[in-house]
Amino acid sequence: MAGVVVVGAGQAAATLVARLRSKGYEGDVTLIGEEPALPYQRPPLSKAYLLGDMELERLYLRPESYYAEQDITLRTGLRVDGIDRSGKTVIAGDELIAYDKLVLCTGSHPRRLPAAIGGALDGVFEVRTLADVDAMAPRFTEGAKVLIVGGGYIGLEAAAVASKLGLEVTLVEAADRILQRVASPETSAYFRALHMGHGVDLREGVGLARIIGETAVTGAELADGTMLDVDFVIVGVGILPASGLAESAGLDIENGIKVNAQGQTSDPHIWAAGDCASFPGAAGQMRLESVGNAIDMAELVADNIMGAGRSYEAKPWFWSDQYDIKLQIAGLSTGYDRVVVRNGGSGALSHWYFAGDRLLALDAMNDSRAYMVGKRLIEGGKSPSPEAVADPETDLKALLKA
Ligand code: FAD
Repeated sequence: MAGVVVVGAGQAAATLVARLRSKGYEGDVTLIGEEPALPYQRPPLSKAYLLGDMELERLYLRPESYYAEQDITLRTGLRVDGIDRSGKTVIAGDELIAYDKLVLCTGSHPRRLPAAIGGALDGVFEVRTLADVDAMAPRFTEGAKVLIVGGGYIGLEAAAVASKLGLEVTLVEAADRILQRVASPETSAYFRALHMGHGVDLREGVGLARIIGETAVTGAELADGTMLDVDFVIVGVGILPASGLAESAGLDIENGIKVNAQGQTSDPHIWAAGDCASFPGAAGQMRLESVGNAIDMAELVADNIMGAGRSYEAKPWFWSDQYDIKLQIAGLSTGYDRVVVRNGGSGALSHWYFAGDRLLALDAMNDSRAYMVGKRLIEGGKSPSPEAVADPETDLKALLKA
């Protein structure tokens, strides 16, 4: 055997093995994933799938037959416990699996609430895996009381689904505002109003003190002393890169599994891609937690395993669906000093992030036109004038030609 062994069978891993085959890689390819399911996409887990609007089959990235057709050995339900770098094998239960090249696509883990404040009670859920969502879905019944802890995208998407299905939703965010880590006050205000308009009891600047219950959730106490009656709790307080396997194998770790611009770890036979991997950015090793990054890094690593010698150029993009709003994000807003609001008419709105005259990023709400133009500008290193962006009369496409 040997050949390429990929640990993890999520977005990055599935993309990587497909890329290897489509580029003509003829060696053995083995994909090992801890979860029992075929490789699947996670974004619908907090959107259409949770709402009951999407069949399980549509979550899968490829049908099962694809892997056999492409001569890819898919081992699901198998956890890799260790890496023997000198022997070039991975250890999975009592099996040793040899590799020439190893790729770590282990993703990330949700942060959990400590058991000391009720995090281990029955009725406390995270939103990371298909199993998590299948376990919580039966609780989404009309009138049920759900507490959502964390006002990031996952918490907000879960709140939107719960509210649509007629649950009583309370969302608490310990920071001063929802989306504080990732978006401007303007974008936070937009989504605050959206959720409150749908009846979500949204509380910012107040954390959770504890979840109450003997064995199962019955309530919660907030940091300001408020007591809530609660049937179940969804925790969306961020993720941590799954770098434990790499760390115990002695690979360099820095904000996740440290890779160079080619996607290679500190061991030249081992590569990493997706949520678990940090790559060199302007301000040190950076990590992105998105489908776009998982796909782009996986393709880069596949190409480089085949000798392309390409360097990674991150082109960040992201989306979120809440109620009837599609949010599309391009670029990274870190370091912005100004937000320009553009009203695209008919409910379309976009927030453009500038640092001085330089366009860094944009958030487009039901405005795919602004998103497409902004994304192309950012990726092309072009910056329109903030005044032109703000002017609703400006033809966006003309900005691309300027
Ligand atoms: P994953 O897809 O997480 O795959 C990693 C896999 O590795 C897992 O199945 C894990 O079980 C397995 N694994 C880990 N360790 C081992 C081991 N030792 N042995 C075997 N297997 C192992 N991104 C967007 O761009 N837009 C969105 O709208 C969006 N929505 C999201 C909604 C939800 C609910 C979630 C959870 C994520 C969302 N994301 C979204 C993020 C996106 O899904 C991730 O960035 C992407 O899945 C990362 O791909 P990955 O392959 O790195 O990791």
